[in-house]
Amino acid sequence: AVAAAARRRVEPTPVDRFPAPGIRRGASGYDVTICGAGFAGSVLARKLAEDSGQRVLVVDKREHIAGNAYDHRDAAGILVHRYGPHIFHTNSDEVVSFLSRFTDWRPYEHRVLAQVGDKQVPMPINRTTLNQLYGLSLSTDEEAAAFLASRAEPVADIRTSRDVVVNAVGRELYETFFQGYTRKQWGLDPSQLDKTVTSRVPTRTNTDDRYFTDKFQAMPREGFTRMFERMLDHPRIDIALSTDFHELKRADRGPLTVYTGPIDAYFGHRFGHLPYRSLAFRHETLPMRKMQPVAVVNYPAEDVPWTRITEYKHLTGQVHPMTSVTYEYPSAEGEPYYPIPRPENQELFRRYDDLARAERGVIFAGRLGSYRYYNMDQVVGQALAVHRRIAAELRPAAAA
Ligand code: FAD
Ligand code: UDP
Repeated sequence: AVAAAARRRVEPTPVDRFPAPGIRRGASGYDVTICGAGFAGSVLARKLAEDSGQRVLVVDKREHIAGNAYDHRDAAGILVHRYGPHIFHTNSDEVVSFLSRFTDWRPYEHRVLAQVGDKQVPMPINRTTLNQLYGLSLSTDEEAAAFLASRAEPVADIRTSRDVVVNAVGRELYETFFQGYTRKQWGLDPSQLDKTVTSRVPTRTNTDDRYFTDKFQAMPREGFTRMFERMLDHPRIDIALSTDFHELKRADRGPLTVYTGPIDAYFGHRFGHLPYRSLAFRHETLPMRKMQPVAVVNYPAEDVPWTRITEYKHLTGQVHPMTSVTYEYPSAEGEPYYPIPRPENQELFRRYDDLARAERGVIFAGRLGSYRYYNMDQVVGQALAVHRRIAAELRPAAAA
């Protein structure tokens, strides 16, 4: 009965709300053409339509809005994230106040455990992790710091993702928590990746077991997709789903284009493909209320093919007799999810970026357009900044 009730609450999907093709004016009747209905494209669409009076067409090749943050009810009626777990956290008041116009929030602090042998221990490494792993009873920050210092192997010039971790916690903890996970996630050894990748994960000497320490941590109360629906719900915004930007004729585009797809694809890969890491997702629904103690369990062992398992009910607080989880299997093939931070890729990106800067009337933004390993809040912040920069040059169509 509960399952049936959960199903009855199913929201209209974005596909119902925005039937494709949604081009009402003929593609050339718009001031701005936006490629991508993820955070970058949708925030810019709203700002350009609302504050700058622009008539905006957003195209996305997928059949839904919200980009990689897309969530929806699965067959059992459980709210799941199609492209893996998306947890919102930020220190930016500007980003929170902008998004809060389109959603209420459910406070949520993310916690992650790592499966090491038969133990599940807190990740990022903290004092509890050390005590559980080594059967210790370190009781102060100082004791934990001294323990880590006794194992750390100082690296003079920290450049790679291996250096960062070995320098902080030594080789054994590095191998236990980072080496295998990173090799799986990126198909590269941490020594081949920029230090910025593993620097995302801190090491702690206290017992704070939250994954993030940002001052704002919460999930959109009715999900990300609902938030995007409201953001894009504006009389000057039209949306064409299942529409590839590259199929629009140049003459059909408005005077301004915002491109949030992969930057190398925009230029026909003329300098070669920028490397992106992909993932395959295995979504499962299980006949039990909860499968694991926290939202995400990481699997750093190299002989386990997935990197992590996410259980959504922890994120959403949904009450349901069943539970849905997602396994992530990294892969070289597939949708471009992660730009791969390493010097040679940055070098290739710079060549595309030079072309992008010279491209008149086109703005490149977002994770793929900027080839940056951005979190959601950083993409929103970037989009708001882009709008500030160009707003002065835009004459509101409504006033023209
Ligand atoms: P996207 O969301 O990728 O949107 C780009 C859109 O452009 C896509 O919808 C795509 O279909 C469309 N597009 C591309 N090419 C074309 C074309 N030719 N024609 C038409 N449309 C096109 N961030 C966090 O802050 N917290 C997290 O917990 C988190 N977890 C993540 C987990 C995973 C597995 C991944 C992959 C990312 C995660 N992120 C997380 C990052 C987050 O997804 C991004 O920062 C954010 O979604 C990027 O928004 P975007 O608009 O730049 O790109
Ligand atoms: N990482 C790791 N072990 C972990 C968690 C993270 O080796 O248990 C490394 C891995 O290289 C990962 C990076 O740290 O890609 C950043 O982790 P984060 O959780 O920020 O990754 P994301 O959520 O962006 O996939």
